[in-house]
Amino acid sequence: MEATVETKTPPTLQTLPGDDVRQILWRFADRYDLHMMVQATRAVARGPVARAVANGERNTHDWTPAKNDLLKVFDDSGITAAFMDPSEGGYIEGPKNLALALLAFELSWVDAGSATASLAGNLGLSPIHERGTPEQRAYYMSRAVPPKPGENRVPWRYAFALTEPLPFVGVETGMLAGKVRVAEWKEGQEPILQVDKRGRFITNMGYANVVTAAVESADARIEGSCMIILEETDPGIFDRGTATKKLVHQLSSTHDPVFNLRVPASRIIGGYTVKDGVIIPKYSHGEIIEAVFRRTRVTVALMTSAKLLSAIEPVILYARRRFRGGEVGPGSPRYELGLQQKEDVLHRLVDIWATGEASASLGFEAARVFDQLDPLEKVENTYLAERKLTGRAAFKELAKKQQEAMELLALSAKLENHRDAQRLLALQSDPLVQFSLLDSVANVLCPACKLWNTGHGANMMREAVSLMGGYGVTEDCPGFLGQKWMDAQLEATYEGPEAVQRLQLSITMTNELFLSQFTNWIADMKRIAAERPGTGACTLGTAMQLWLWTLQHVQQATDADGAKLYHKKRQGVTFPLADALCWLLAARQFILDAIELKKNGAANPALAEGLPGLTNFYFDLCHVQAARAAGEVGRVCAEIVNGYKRHPAWDEASCHACYCAEELESLEGFIPGIDGSARTCSDVSETGEARPLKAGPCVRFDGLEAFVRLRAKLDGCLTGCRLAKDRAAEALTTVMTREALDYPA
Ligand SMILES: Cc1cc2nc3c(=O)[nH]c(=O)nc-3n(C[C@H](O)[C@H](O)[C@H](O)COP(=O)(O)OP(=O)(O)OC[C@H]3O[C@@H](n4cnc5c(N)ncnc54)[C@H](O)[C@@H]3O)c2cc1C
Repeated sequence: MEATVETKTPPTLQTLPGDDVRQILWRFADRYDLHMMVQATRAVARGPVARAVANGERNTHDWTPAKNDLLKVFDDSGITAAFMDPSEGGYIEGPKNLALALLAFELSWVDAGSATASLAGNLGLSPIHERGTPEQRAYYMSRAVPPKPGENRVPWRYAFALTEPLPFVGVETGMLAGKVRVAEWKEGQEPILQVDKRGRFITNMGYANVVTAAVESADARIEGSCMIILEETDPGIFDRGTATKKLVHQLSSTHDPVFNLRVPASRIIGGYTVKDGVIIPKYSHGEIIEAVFRRTRVTVALMTSAKLLSAIEPVILYARRRFRGGEVGPGSPRYELGLQQKEDVLHRLVDIWATGEASASLGFEAARVFDQLDPLEKVENTYLAERKLTGRAAFKELAKKQQEAMELLALSAKLENHRDAQRLLALQSDPLVQFSLLDSVANVLCPACKLWNTGHGANMMREAVSLMGGYGVTEDCPGFLGQKWMDAQLEATYEGPEAVQRLQLSITMTNELFLSQFTNWIADMKRIAAERPGTGACTLGTAMQLWLWTLQHVQQATDADGAKLYHKKRQGVTFPLADALCWLLAARQFILDAIELKKNGAANPALAEGLPGLTNFYFDLCHVQAARAAGEVGRVCAEIVNGYKRHPAWDEASCHACYCAEELESLEGFIPGIDGSARTCSDVSETGEARPLKAGPCVRFDGLEAFVRLRAKLDGCLTGCRLAKDRAAEALTTVMTREALDYPA
């Protein structure tokens, strides 16, 4: 008699994740103010916004009455006021990065153009919010708030004008054509300035009352550049220009405006001083833009995450129903599963889902980091102001704090009885040390999520569209997936396209403070891998090691001609390494969030029953994403490490693997030849002739043992990732969905 082995199927996902799950993953379960805001925003997104899209409002560039009505809906639902402090008429206390990220996510679930229309108002206000004088803040923020009952006023709308007609500002924000001059300066009175600025692609410009514009001095009596506030009633020309013929985000208004206005110097954002008859703005336009974008880019990143996650249900519904009707009856696999009988359909959707989750995890983590950073940044500003430290002196002081932060990390890594507890406590309670630590992470997370969520997200949206067949590229596609695909490309472009984020990352990711923390994160992944082998943490930890090794290597290494590899002009090296880092950061945060779900899900009675299946599914998604990230990182690192050496002439008899036998042996059998045996390799003479290398170091191996070993280990670490994908795919065939989406098509 044959023995039968009973295999118990592990529990899996029962229903699509709802708010309870998201609140734990993104760590706002205890923020009831945010729960309410999310609900209100969702009602707007899936109600009036979805109806506007379904009614074809995206089919025109013009700012129609129906689009304009949405502004009122945003006001009434609290979306507009979410940006303001309660003292300015808002309703959310404290930092609002997470709140705005959630808001962008909810609106973009249906249409990111509507999110842009709402958020561009905040963007227009942000220069004032981040660097304005207290008077400027109080005046302009309170006017942006919708009227309270009994108040008779219209809220002001705002726009942010940096980009200029070609050939001026775009990616290069320094090439300003917009100018500011002194128009009139009477003895003892405030100077009146003449501002000339043309904008290109300026959001909200069809109706904005106030514009914050970047301009450069064209007058010896004004120093440098600044951002300046322009009002529609200022004397001169406030021409909104023509509507941009864009193909995307049609529920926002975009124009190419022209301004030729006289304004008082008090409109310079952040104020100014006068020295020797010269107006010195407190902040250059570059300083303000940096402070603004580092926050607002996070919300843009989450727009694309929302699209990916919003695609899951429509794709499942489409696939399951694809073959219903005709001869096929209920109960048959063809009827019940439709296209979900095909493994590829399921696997691709697993990839989309894993990407959406990982990108949301990364984006929301960035938003939370900025929420922590905001108060610390205020402490930092006050600290420097009290000591009158500016420019180089401020830089030197902050560099000192950075060193102390390094010391804190080193002390924390030591065993308790081997470290100075008092010093540790002093460093831990120094807010400027805390600021340095967080700032170095924020400086990476912000460009990372903007770059990866939107850039890779746009590629993955194409995958989602392809799963809907021909329907995917029609206006009728459920979930508006075709429009979302195109919209994702704008999210990858505005507020600085991918090149800008890669440029920034190529600098911030080499900060020693960030790298020290990154090293700790590798150790964390290894620990997680030991406790929870099915999460992909092992693969990811090794991929993180490989990336770090490669970064350190290229900072010293040269190419075949002796030129430095890590150099700002060498974007072929720096940019792919920046991309690779993003893959790692997203997969890491996803694993951390899934662990959070496992830890805290049981406390929520609504989740308790389905929790084992839910977390199994999430860990499988994590594993899939970690493996994909590891593959990407392995490819990028291998190309960079090996790709800048000249390839020797290939000789089948003597060289297969480009590594010499002695060194291969030292790799504990990790690197076999093509047929599994270790091979000798050949060197190349100056004439290009191959010659066997018998003695001395192998020129092509060049001390890369550690790299080769890590590469091989990485492959080994992929164990189980496809089993995880199979399980996740299987779950997609049984997970319960709604009968129809909760917004119209
Ligand atoms: C619908 C929409 C709304 C917008 N809203 C606003 C707004 O409200 N306010 C505002 O000020 N702007 C706005 N913009 C402008 C947007 O921010 C810019 O289009 C964007 O920053 C890119 O500038 P650019 O189009 O001039 O591209 P370019 O500067 O011409 O760059 C084009 C491409 O060249 C490459 N490239 C350029 N420089 C580099 C480099 N140094 N290294 C490597 N590669 C490089 C990159 O691939 C880049 O994507 C909006 C744009 C659109 C389309």
